[in-house]
Parts: sequence; structure tokens; C-alpha cells
Amino acid sequence: MTKEIEIISEGLNYTAGNLGVLDQLMEYEVINPATKKGLPGKVFLGEVLKMTGLEVSLQIFPPGMGMPFTHKHRQNEEFYIILKGHGEFTIDNTVVPLCEGTVIRIAPNGARIWHNTGNEPMIVLCVQSAAGSLQQATTKDGILC
Ligand code: ZN
Repeated sequence: MTKEIEIISEGLNYTAGNLGVLDQLMEYEVINPATKKGLPGKVFLGEVLKMTGLEVSLQIFPPGMGMPFTHKHRQNEEFYIILKGHGEFTIDNTVVPLCEGTVIRIAPNGARIWHNTGNEPMIVLCVQSAAGSLQQATTKDGILC
């Protein structure tokens, strides 16, 4: 049974949760509804935090492990940041080395797969939202209260 994100506080305009210690992300698992196969070490945050404009996931890969399949998206652009560890990202047959702090944007049609090449767990955070949907951000969208 997969671990559940603990909701620690919720109000009219927010939902706050706690994933636990990131090194223990292997306690989570996502089951692909189409293939019924599990992705251990992966957790999506969007539904539990009631996000409406983006999806966020975290995933941990033990040494030698990686995504079991290459994938693209129908409409979503993805942003990845490597939070810990070392690995390689392959995008359309180009290999990009990964280390803590590597940030990557991938357009929906980019064929992507990645794996851990290091001797410690690799932790990856992914944000996805509809490509072309951002109308404003940072100081153009922020309002001082
Ligand atoms: Zn994806």
C-alpha cells in the first residue's frame, strides 16, 4: 500500500501537506491506470493539494534505476529540477547529464526518459502545465497586500 500525503493545514485559499523525508519517497507509488503497472518512489501533488493549473510530482530513483518507459505529452510542457543525485536525461536522442540543480524544460512533443547514474538516490521534481497557457507571472501577476 502506498503512503498518503499528510494534509497539515487547509483554508479557504490554501492546502498545505507534508510528504515526509524526501529520502523516503520510495514509500510512495503511482499506479498507471492504463497499464496497471506501478512506479515506486513517485508521488503526484496536484490532486491532494487541489491544484487547478499545474501538476507537480516528486520521484526518487535508487542507484541504477530510471523511468521504465519513454514518454511524450499531448499538451503539457514539463519542467524538471534535480534535487539530489546524478543521472542522465535523454530527450529526442540527446543525452543531458544531470546533477543537483540541473533544470530542464521539455516541450510536449519531446520524447523523454531518464535514469540515475550515481551511487546515491536521485530525486527529481517535475512541474507540468499546458504549453502556452501562461499569460503572466512574477511581478506582472503578483499583487502587494
Ligand atoms: Zn511527463
